Amino acid sequence: MNYKFDIGIVGSGPAGYTAALHGRRRGLSVVLFEKSEIGGVCLNRGCIPTKAVLHSAELYEEIKSGDILGIKAPDVQIDFSKVMDRKNQVVTKLRKGLELSLKNSGVVTVNSEAKIKDKNTIEANGQIYICNQIIAATGSEPKSIKGMETDNDKVLNSDGILNLTTIPKSIAIIGSGAIGTEWARIFAAFGAEVTVIELADNLLPLADIEVSKRVERIFKAKKIRIYKSVRVEKIDRENTCKIKLSNGEIIESDKVLVAVGRSINNSEKVDGVEYIGDVCGEIMLAHYASKQAIEIVDGIKFDKTLVPSVVYGNPEIAWVGQREQDLEEGSYKKSTLLISAIGKSHCDNATDGFIKILSRDSKIIGAHIISKEAASLIQQIIIAMQNNITVEDLKEVCFAHPTYSEGIFEALFGL
Ligand SMILES: Cc1cc2nc3c(=O)[nH]c(=O)nc-3n(C[C@H](O)[C@H](O)[C@H](O)COP(=O)(O)OP(=O)(O)OC[C@H]3O[C@@H](n4cnc5c(N)ncnc54)[C@H](O)[C@@H]3O)c2cc1C
Repeated sequence: MNYKFDIGIVGSGPAGYTAALHGRRRGLSVVLFEKSEIGGVCLNRGCIPTKAVLHSAELYEEIKSGDILGIKAPDVQIDFSKVMDRKNQVVTKLRKGLELSLKNSGVVTVNSEAKIKDKNTIEANGQIYICNQIIAATGSEPKSIKGMETDNDKVLNSDGILNLTTIPKSIAIIGSGAIGTEWARIFAAFGAEVTVIELADNLLPLADIEVSKRVERIFKAKKIRIYKSVRVEKIDRENTCKIKLSNGEIIESDKVLVAVGRSINNSEKVDGVEYIGDVCGEIMLAHYASKQAIEIVDGIKFDKTLVPSVVYGNPEIAWVGQREQDLEEGSYKKSTLLISAIGKSHCDNATDGFIKILSRDSKIIGAHIISKEAASLIQQIIIAMQNNITVEDLKEVCFAHPTYSEGIFEALFGL
């Protein structure tokens, strides 16, 4: 028997589930195929579990420095199994919530691997599904690199690291993108000896150069060892891991996290099928995936040059638009405000960081923020950029005091 649907979606990560829910909102019949867990990487092995562990790490760090705020907690301890249990509970709760939303909204979910046969046909569980429109949202998985193969014991990727049962005494993190940087912060906060190894000349290679440099300072202050411009040649696994670098050095650590990027799933494309989310190989972020889903299902377009990048941890890092190193000298204006210039940062004991805004002809062309609440701050800039709100217009806006947003307001006067 053939089943018939308006939309067939393969993959239930942010791209797939958003497309499914929005499809139902439009009154269309929707079938969603998932071979693993509903919610995809983001909910089960990505954004959500990492941020849940990160929150414990940040809280631990904050309590330890509580003395300065008049809070004495001399015997603070980490119960790592509880940290990981709570992370699992958060994931399970959100997954169950999502499963319920899909069910209540009338999405038909098929727990099976699906194969797209042609632009209107999906095969799963030996059944054929005929769909007016097919959306492939099959996502990505950690990249495996020769010499750095994971073993689920000593050498782990972003999936395996979520199953740790103890905090390693030492960990080497290969790659300083968002995933590597977040885990470096987590382990450093938990007291592990952390080494970050980066092939590029700067940490967070996709960030503005001044952000990269400041992150390096922050890492050094947290006693994170940094190796830049070096390649990992091989990892010998004995009692510990011995990581041979291209500069001849050998680093020893208990565990290794390989965070060197992601490969897309099911890269063979079928004509007439819409590919969204990580699988389309553009910007591998959950909010990009869900916006693409809304664009396809609801026809609401979005500006793909105005997608925020955020790296979580203390302090948050966020950016949008152009980086200073890509601009020609003299072709732009720049204003940088130190976070320590904002009253609220002193109240919060969070004075590290800056807000840097780049503009041209009174239009903001990029912003790079290191600050508590940076992820929310960048959103204000994006709203201005997307709506062509000029620097002069923004100066007319009243920002609340004391807030970090005031930093944006103050920075405008340097442009
Ligand atoms: C450690 C980590 C932290 C991250 N943190 C953030 C963050 O803070 N913010 C952010 O925006 N992004 C973050 N990301 C990236 C984010 O998780 C991805 O961009 C997002 O999950 C992509 O969504 P997607 O729907 O395209 O695919 P995925 O979430 O990868 O989902 C794809 C789904 O398709 C299923 N599937 C694949 N093939 C088939 C098939 N043939 N049949 C049936 N099902 C199939 C898979 O099982 C999977 O569940 C992080 C990623 C990682 C790994």
